[in-house]
Amino acid sequence: MPVRLRVGAPRRLLVIAPHPDDEAIGAYMLMTRLRRRGVAVRVVVVTDGAASHPNSLRWPRRRLVAERRRESRRTLRRIGVAAAAVTFLDLPDGRLNTHTAAARRGLSHALGHVGSALIAAPAASDDHPDHRTVAACVAALRRPNLRRLAYPVWPAGLRPAGARCLFLTAQERLAKRQAVRSYRTQAGRIMDDPAGFAMTRRQISAFTRQQEVFVEVRQ
Ligand SMILES: [Zn+2]
Repeated sequence: MPVRLRVGAPRRLLVIAPHPDDEAIGAYMLMTRLRRRGVAVRVVVVTDGAASHPNSLRWPRRRLVAERRRESRRTLRRIGVAAAAVTFLDLPDGRLNTHTAAARRGLSHALGHVGSALIAAPAASDDHPDHRTVAACVAALRRPNLRRLAYPVWPAGLRPAGARCLFLTAQERLAKRQAVRSYRTQAGRIMDDPAGFAMTRRQISAFTRQQEVFVEVRQ
């Protein structure tokens, strides 16, 4: 039986996304609900997202990176997170493990502004290496006044042991589904790269299930 996440009354929320879309997959409802309560929400997107379609002629790297940024900004703006509260560290997608110093620096800088906060970041056990690298960088920051939550993304639909959940109403679930699908570069819009990534229907369903899942990280 899934256990409810107690969000409490954080002063701020910082969501750390390895790629531009993980913020919505992992923490859409957490951000939405806290923004409605007037809590300041900041988002840091660590990589540029350029690796999703490396061979597309219609979407060369620059265009893809710019569009993925737009997708994140637009989705976040709709739930009340302004562009100024979204930081893109622009590190290389898929090769983050060779840029850990820069990732740590960027995250440390972002955290410098937030003081005490609730932080939602990828899980250390995630299937995607960039997600694991971000989790390791966050763990290495060792800030005492942070409450850390980890969100699982890959494999889609996983509910780790000890998970705590936000339960979504039917309407909230629909809103999250629309948000996840609005990252259209990741949902089938780019069709001229056979090696490119596109979320499957099953993955979208798993990302927009009835619960948003987190694991409390003890430091
Ligand atoms: Zn990702």
